[in-house]
Amino acid sequence: MMESHSYQDKTIAVFGLGKSGMSTARRLQDGKAHVFVWDDNEGRRRTASEHGLTLKDLLGERWQPTEALVLSPGVPLTHPAPHAIVDAAKSAGTKIIGDVEIFLQEKTAGRLIGITGTNGKSTTTALISHLLSSAGRPVAAGGNIGTPVMDLPQLDEDGTYVLELSSYQLDLTPSWQADIAILLNITPDHLDRHGDLSGYADVKRRIFQKQTEKGVAVLNQDDPLCRQIADDLRRESKTHIILISTIQAAEGGVSVIDGLLKDQSRGDQPWTVDISDIASLRGRHNWQNAAAAVAAVSSMGLEPDEIRRGLTSFGGLAHRMEPVGSLGPVSFVNDSKATNAEAAEKALTSFENIYWIAGGREKAGGITSLSPHFGRIAHAFLIGEAKDNFAATLTGHISFTICDTLAEATEKAANAAFRSRDKSAVVLLSPAAASFDQFTSFEARGDAFREIVARLIAEAS
Ligand code: ADP
Repeated sequence: MMESHSYQDKTIAVFGLGKSGMSTARRLQDGKAHVFVWDDNEGRRRTASEHGLTLKDLLGERWQPTEALVLSPGVPLTHPAPHAIVDAAKSAGTKIIGDVEIFLQEKTAGRLIGITGTNGKSTTTALISHLLSSAGRPVAAGGNIGTPVMDLPQLDEDGTYVLELSSYQLDLTPSWQADIAILLNITPDHLDRHGDLSGYADVKRRIFQKQTEKGVAVLNQDDPLCRQIADDLRRESKTHIILISTIQAAEGGVSVIDGLLKDQSRGDQPWTVDISDIASLRGRHNWQNAAAAVAAVSSMGLEPDEIRRGLTSFGGLAHRMEPVGSLGPVSFVNDSKATNAEAAEKALTSFENIYWIAGGREKAGGITSLSPHFGRIAHAFLIGEAKDNFAATLTGHISFTICDTLAEATEKAANAAFRSRDKSAVVLLSPAAASFDQFTSFEARGDAFREIVARLIAEAS
């Protein structure tokens, strides 16, 4: 754990007591700062107080001078409107920072890799971390999801931190400076928090801020905004740029075409590896993540054989096209993280003969955008609030069954897939809808699916 000493004997406020806010407040308190904490949520306040933290209604009282305000990334800094706490701190001249800023002040050694983008951050972070650790390099990964940065260990000079950063966190980290910075893609998402696409891109490009000529910048050549940022970087800095692509060869970079990864970033020593059969890296979107991860570790001097071994042994992340079992020829895949049509499209294009479980709380636009992929679906099993609307979209295109629960849908899908005797049949939970009508989170939905599948497999054997 990262004990924080830079605020010893100073007063500091922490607003937002989720996982990262709690961790930061406790580490600051361990380091003998005078810490005041607050959250709109009473339950979180109670937990904080049970951990010995001092509550103070930072909004209800007049703003007291403090060294800094540590803001949780979930609290609006600028868009759609600054939270009242932000206005209060700003008018008192208090600097507003996030947990990563404090982490940077406390970390004593170790290389820093930062990953941002609209999609693929967690997968790329996990893959880089796996490639490094399977090659025997000391590594600690965390950030936006997973382990809060202040819970990471102090590493030595030969260690590497792999941090996933959302645009909100970049906004709150003025000292950010990465050894290797990765921008995967920029698509319209979270625009409510950043105004417009160019505002969003401006925040994302901060992943490269302050990089020196020793730094490495990895960007996706297939994405127009990333390309523009790469051009700007080339003009403005001496950072070494490595481009990645899943469409065409990336000169001096890393490409994955039809599953063949080619690394041309090592000068006159290009090498290749076929990743088309790696289940955890299925789909073009994962090829993008793999290309970015390989660009990063290759620039650190990992050997092709070390990288090949690491790619093959990567287990993938839970709830993202996660293989959760098989019954004879039928395989079961948990893609519960696909809470909208755009994410579900990635899974639908990665399989054939799909027995598709979809539905939940519907997002704007429903599943109409998925119609080009309906041909891959053998039968759909619809659940949740969205089932009637999804059924209306599917009518006349593919057959479907309306179900009450995830368990009923999974059992019926398994039976139908089994009866089809098709070798490539897959029962795919990729709901294209939020989970909150029937579950507390997408994780709870995916865990429930995994348990149902385990029961079906046990009953069958
Ligand atoms: P993030 O951490 O950025 O939310 P994840 O790695 O958790 O991304 O992946 C979440 C979902 O986003 C995946 O299930 C998949 O549907 C989609 N996805 C993953 N990688 C990419 C990518 N490179 N480009 C587009 N979509 C992606």
